[in-house]
Amino acid sequence: MRNYPSYLKAFDAGTLAQRSKEAFALLESCVLCPRRCRVNRLKGEKGFCRTGGYARVCSYMPHHGEEPPISGTRGSGAIFFSQCTMACAYCQNYEFSQERSGREVQEDELAGFMVELQEMGCHNINLVSPTHIMPQILKSLVIAAGNGLQIPLVYNTGGYELPEIVALLDGIVDIYLPDMRYGRNAPAERYSQAPQYPYYNQKAVKLMHQQVGVADIGDDGIIKRGLVIRHLVLPQGLSGTETVMRFVASELTTQTYISLMSQYTPYYHAPQIQELSRRVSLEEYEDAQKIRDSYGLNNGWVQESFGLERFAGVHIKPSLSKDKEKQ
Ligand code: SF4
Repeated sequence: MRNYPSYLKAFDAGTLAQRSKEAFALLESCVLCPRRCRVNRLKGEKGFCRTGGYARVCSYMPHHGEEPPISGTRGSGAIFFSQCTMACAYCQNYEFSQERSGREVQEDELAGFMVELQEMGCHNINLVSPTHIMPQILKSLVIAAGNGLQIPLVYNTGGYELPEIVALLDGIVDIYLPDMRYGRNAPAERYSQAPQYPYYNQKAVKLMHQQVGVADIGDDGIIKRGLVIRHLVLPQGLSGTETVMRFVASELTTQTYISLMSQYTPYYHAPQIQELSRRVSLEEYEDAQKIRDSYGLNNGWVQESFGLERFAGVHIKPSLSKDKEKQ
């Protein structure tokens, strides 16, 4: 039996197909995310994410702008899914996350994208905003694994997740890449329409950590397994960096890899929202780094848009690109 990536073991044992069926059943009264819309998506009913029975894909490509151990030298096999369980007023991907660019794909076609990305040499399959179509992804994965897929999955999520749904991914996902976007409820509700985001986000990230542990980065510089947290610094302290870093240090481990992102740009509705209508200042970004440092969090990456040095303990040069990044 094959042990790596984890889903191959599940595929060989038949548990991947079983998990896919369990997940698909949830679409009859959808409870895939904290919104729990309870609509029958298999009959075409739509909830907050406006997604029916099929995944909608905007694009797929080798992506060279993710964190260095995810993009590596040959790129991360990114699949950008349309629509989202969040509605961030500043989303830089709003054309497909909110305005439905892309088209519906059936599971065999999605499986084909995965295999094609592997054939292009990508290090992994990077599922960008997968939460609302997780069952369709698992069904596709069964097909793809049968067709020779053998690179790990990156579950690249905005972090508004139900723990019981994350539990279904145990033994399937090797690399979790969640946002920890907010430390407080009010900004999460106001700017992302995501009630109780910190509560669900922290529970889900803790479970991800329990499943895959600290990022395991090989001698080749490529991540094999583990958790990488993204924290996008918003203007005026709206991301609640102190709360997020305290949680990571006290509830996970100070060894956790954190990607501290400075790339915030006022896209979409943000120019009309006074407090979100500008980029993050150098001072605000430095403050976020000081907070991270104060909790002894020494693994991860900073962005270089301000010409800042990487921080102590980083062993891979940080070089996130600012375009085409997931928000
Ligand atoms: S995945 Fe979509 S339909 Fe299902 S609970 Fe979440 S927002 Fe509602």
